[in-house]
Amino acid sequence: MCIICTGEIYKQNLDTLQVLNVSDCESLTSERLQEVLVQCKNLTILRCAYCTSLTSIDLRKNIKLKNLMCHTCKLLEYINFSSDYNCLEEIRFYNTLVRNIDISKCQKLDYIICSELLDSIDFRECKELTSVNISDNNNITTIDLRENKKLSDLYCNNCRLLTSVLIDNPSELAYENYEDDPWIYQNEDFSSNLQSLIKIQRWYRRLLVIKYMKSQEFIEWIYNPNIGGKYYKNHLLKLLTV
Ligand SMILES: [Zn+2]
Repeated sequence: MCIICTGEIYKQNLDTLQVLNVSDCESLTSERLQEVLVQCKNLTILRCAYCTSLTSIDLRKNIKLKNLMCHTCKLLEYINFSSDYNCLEEIRFYNTLVRNIDISKCQKLDYIICSELLDSIDFRECKELTSVNISDNNNITTIDLRENKKLSDLYCNNCRLLTSVLIDNPSELAYENYEDDPWIYQNEDFSSNLQSLIKIQRWYRRLLVIKYMKSQEFIEWIYNPNIGGKYYKNHLLKLLTV
């Protein structure tokens, strides 16, 4: 259970709270989270990954939020921001049921890992964007990154319907995909840009262990010593029990 479910959160001054970590709670409901979020007017970081009862996250009162980590909330369908919200810098919502998200006002967005079920996404106003990950997406057909001059990393492996990747100046871009991704070989628009790309093909499919070391969970753990050990441990436990 997290500090919301135990009630411990209410010992803190929610008005000044900047970081809220409730990850790994199977009991936390959207309603209970919402009761707390409306009081956290100064929240900048929300971590609620692996909260398997959450169905929605309403951030319309949290207009200062910069970092949202809500990946692997298996039932999460909706993430709502206020209409003029623009502070978001980093968001990870892979392994969720989110089909739509409006980040079109998020001009400070730097880093994003998307849900596999997104139908489309509009990055045009995200001028500070450096890293985009839409890996394993089943629906996106086009991704337009022509306005994102700072983009340095694009992860789009295993996107079965992706046939158009629009990039203005690909010479600085590193991308990662697998050999059987259809778009990279079948898309004529993109092939002209291909030669100037820095091509990174990693054949870690043959070794599951090495593949794991490239996984998002592992990378998050390795770069995030404060909380990562917990995710790492859980992931290992899941691997061992399969
Ligand atoms: Zn909880």
